[in-house]
Amino acid sequence: MTHSRSFNRIHAGNLCVALATVAFSTATSAQQAEGHWANALAYAEAGIRASRSSPGFASLCALDMTFRNVNPASPGQGEDAPIPETTLPIPPEAQAPQQTRGGGRDLPPPEPMQVFDNLYFVGDNSTSAWVIGDEEGYIMLDAMRSNEEAENSIMAGMEQLGIDPQFVEYVVISHAHGDHFGGHQYLAERFAPRFVMSELDWQLAETLPEHPRFGLPPERDVATADGEILTAGNTSVTLNLAPGHTMGTLSPVFTVFENGVPYRAVLWGGTGFNFGRNEERLRVYAQSAADLRQLAAEEDISIILSNHPARDNSTGRMRELAQREAGEPHPFVDREMVYASLETLHNCAMAQAERLAAETALSARE
Ligand SMILES: [Zn+2]
Repeated sequence: MTHSRSFNRIHAGNLCVALATVAFSTATSAQQAEGHWANALAYAEAGIRASRSSPGFASLCALDMTFRNVNPASPGQGEDAPIPETTLPIPPEAQAPQQTRGGGRDLPPPEPMQVFDNLYFVGDNSTSAWVIGDEEGYIMLDAMRSNEEAENSIMAGMEQLGIDPQFVEYVVISHAHGDHFGGHQYLAERFAPRFVMSELDWQLAETLPEHPRFGLPPERDVATADGEILTAGNTSVTLNLAPGHTMGTLSPVFTVFENGVPYRAVLWGGTGFNFGRNEERLRVYAQSAADLRQLAAEEDISIILSNHPARDNSTGRMRELAQREAGEPHPFVDREMVYASLETLHNCAMAQAERLAAETALSARE
């Protein structure tokens, strides 16, 4: 409406320069909004297309998503701006399918499982915890939500799989959210590992209020810089910084073996857009996904994991693995899924950034 009104004004003839300037900038905002919205739709379509091999990430492309902010009090964590959610129409091809968003808590929990010679799943149906290594030294990825979960999932799982917790040297926390550090206290009491996070997320952890469902954050311990290699015995993990979900999210890269054959794997360390309406953060997130895609090509990464088993379909893939016949390929080794997942993550973050740019341009028009 504003668009056509300013158009008429410009062509009405007797305009003073000031009014023409206002009208021109109004038209520009509307055109900018249209351009950003067209970009948003194109990115969402591309993300949804790529998500056919990684359906757990597709919901990130939903352009009518509400932007929660799980850390509203934290500096640099984004704010809920007083802009209304979009009411722009979304054509069917750009509509994200309804997906589990790291949920699936109603499903029976996956059994603890040895997924590769040196990689073990000890999480539940909502949150993953992985253990990499052998008796020369293990590195654990994430500590789940609470001390109860650390006892009932992580410790019980390790016992069942024959992993001696005394050999767990490090627990890497992918990012400073309670669903990944909440069980640390129990682990610290049982086998005293070192806890590793990025410097930025140690800083974030210090700002967090107590949460009713999550254990407390750990005391500051090992701070890692981008690309640092952590070693325990025969096992090394490269800790890549992949900012977005939090500014210090780590996406570890490591090698797993099946009957001695090595495969490179990456764990996407933080997924949801739950940092408020924050266009810049979404663009940072998109860049991290693009950087990892590049790294995946350079290092021939053929396995992608996340820390929620519904996102990366670990639950389904472990079920397949349990039923695999001799000679069948390993269901976790899937190069196409690695690239498709990172494309989805990149495209969905760009789609949401462009959507916010469109909404900002629309609100500037008024
Ligand atoms: Zn998180």
